[in-house]
Amino acid sequence: MILKTALLVAGGTGSRMGGVLPKQFMLLNHLPVLVLTIRRFRLVQKDMPIVIVMHEAYLSHWESLAGQYLSEEERENLYVCNGGKERIHSVYKGLLFLKENILGNLNALVAIHDAVRPFVSTAVIEECFEKALEYEAAIPCLPVKFSLRRIIPVENGETTQPVSRAEYMEVQTPQTFTFSALWDCFEERKHDDYTDDASLFQEVSGKNIAIVKGDYHNIKITTPEDMLLGEIILKEGT
Ligand code: C5P
Repeated sequence: MILKTALLVAGGTGSRMGGVLPKQFMLLNHLPVLVLTIRRFRLVQKDMPIVIVMHEAYLSHWESLAGQYLSEEERENLYVCNGGKERIHSVYKGLLFLKENILGNLNALVAIHDAVRPFVSTAVIEECFEKALEYEAAIPCLPVKFSLRRIIPVENGETTQPVSRAEYMEVQTPQTFTFSALWDCFEERKHDDYTDDASLFQEVSGKNIAIVKGDYHNIKITTPEDMLLGEIILKEGT
């Protein structure tokens, strides 16, 4: 059986939330968002190696939260490494850490997940692993619920035009890959030019990405309203 691993990207400093603490450390019903996210992966497999990528300024804060909220068992196979300037740099640093400290030459699956998505379901994580094993890459997506408009620059400003939402999908995480296939892409192309791992994989490898049905509960906590929604989802017990 192939080893399953998770890379939780928590290297953001959370400017859109406006608070002092990045959102991955904020409390939702008395628990840090990152603790809830870790538990989602521990539910899939108790001893799964999990690497958290984090800005070094928050390392000691995280250490005290981990000591306070996670049991000794939950902290087993849990690693932390430094993040980078943009999300894609944090992903690269996390992959490098995984390779050098955990995998060696062993192949594995890696689920790259936004630390600020604490409600991802076991079913979505498991299906991403299954499809990534079969197709090398799998991402959860959902139909777009909103009406969309495209912004078009014109002389002295911009205008907008409606677009068909049926042509678009909302992309969630975990974006999941066979480690070696993704690593080869990072080695081949400068990752600075990409915003996310799946785009880099698809363009460099030329391969298709399997789509897994996402989940509307798998929200990304980005603005203060998302914290309110998160509290409701938690109370609902999803
Ligand atoms: O900024 P955004 O909301 O797109 O961040 C998505 C995820 O990527 C968050 O979990 C954030 O902590 C992480 N991130 C990171 N390193 C960065 C920027 C964002 O790990 N430099």
